[in-house]
Amino acid sequence: MVEEFSFDNTDERRKHRQNGTGWVEVIVGSMFSGKSEELIRRLNRAAIARQKVQVFKPIIDARYSVEEIASHAGRKHLSTPVATAAELNGNVDPETQVVGIDEGQFFDAGLVDVVTELANAGKRVIIAGLDQDYTGKPFEPMPQLLCVAEYITKIHAICVKCGSTANFTQRTVESDARVEVGASDKYEARCRKCFVPHSDAPTVV
Ligand code: ADP
Ligand code: ZN
Repeated sequence: MVEEFSFDNTDERRKHRQNGTGWVEVIVGSMFSGKSEELIRRLNRAAIARQKVQVFKPIIDARYSVEEIASHAGRKHLSTPVATAAELNGNVDPETQVVGIDEGQFFDAGLVDVVTELANAGKRVIIAGLDQDYTGKPFEPMPQLLCVAEYITKIHAICVKCGSTANFTQRTVESDARVEVGASDKYEARCRKCFVPHSDAPTVV
């Protein structure tokens, strides 16, 4: 059994807000673990609290629609597509209080400095992304973001083979490319026992 812990450290965050500093929150896990859902939930709550929210995603991920972030279960939030971390930075309004970033693993290494700069400027920055690629290797720049974040949330999917806690993303099509955009047509959530880490893993029929 994996211990589930609270996503909502509201008291901790309130302390930050009292002295006007920003901070960084990172949400990681495998595909289908609910990262986008959790990001959208936090952004919606900030918007309900009348905070100015901006959301970005890398242009590479054209999975559903370009102007939105979307969860596999169909929840959506408006977002601005950007090609690089520098372009993201250039699009942040000085008035913005909360910056949401989805699919953080598809950004360049410059995202770490951009996120730090935004948090230093007093903003709450929330990044969701895959912590591992399809071979189980750390997916940069997420490891670096985990190091600079004040708050880290790791969530899990359910292994489609055995029903236990899934920490890995199994690619189910033939491809050696690190970035191969897809959803349940190309990937499934697997636990440590059911995950086949090699790029020559047999495809699922
Ligand atoms: P992520 O951003 O981590 O890929 P999403 O937030 O887009 O995840 O989607 C999470 C949703 O995916 C779940 O609420 C559930 O409806 C669906 N889902 C599909 N397959 C699985 C699975 N194997 N385990 C858990 N949820 C799954
Ligand atoms: Zn399993």
